Amino acid sequence: MDSSELRIRVIETAKAMLRLGLTVGTGGNVSVRCPDDKTFLITPSSLPYETLTPDDIVAVDLADGAYKGRNKPSIELHLHRKVYLTRRDVSAVVHAHPPIASALAVSGKPLPLIIDACTFAFKDKVEVAEYAKPGTLELAENTVKALGNNTAVLLANHGILCVGDNLDSALERCEVLDKAALTYILSLIVGTPSCLRPLSDGG
Ligand SMILES: [Zn+2]
Repeated sequence: MDSSELRIRVIETAKAMLRLGLTVGTGGNVSVRCPDDKTFLITPSSLPYETLTPDDIVAVDLADGAYKGRNKPSIELHLHRKVYLTRRDVSAVVHAHPPIASALAVSGKPLPLIIDACTFAFKDKVEVAEYAKPGTLELAENTVKALGNNTAVLLANHGILCVGDNLDSALERCEVLDKAALTYILSLIVGTPSCLRPLSDGG
């Protein structure tokens, strides 16, 4: 897939994120690693997703964070860059603010592997990264630390971040995370939730 196709896919993913209720307004951000492995493409700062065109997407240099394009990159540029530098297996990142998973993030409660869909989407329970202000290097560092080798992480008092080897898988993990969070919260009301073991443990 060349750069122009990837730009279109970034826009489609951002629109889907909004349509699925995983964020509101211009919140959240989407990025993809380029085939050259030297740059990544990210949604611009504060522009409505519905009217984005391929030229609005910003190309960021992985090595130094320098960017090219007519727009500024998302404020969470550091967050995405740090994930790509730390996780060679990751090709796409979606950061969103879904209301239900964010309730866990606000409460500082990790999401255990409570349903089968979780064991397919996540390698382990989804941890909560320590709070840091949006757009800071500290948020990027806290997030990568809590993410570890997993495919999703909750960001304290902020939202979520999911990764994948393509944009569809990263976005789908956001959906699974928010829906599983709802199931978990309801199960806490009903009784005591039981948890599944991660697949890596032979489950
Ligand atoms: Zn955010």
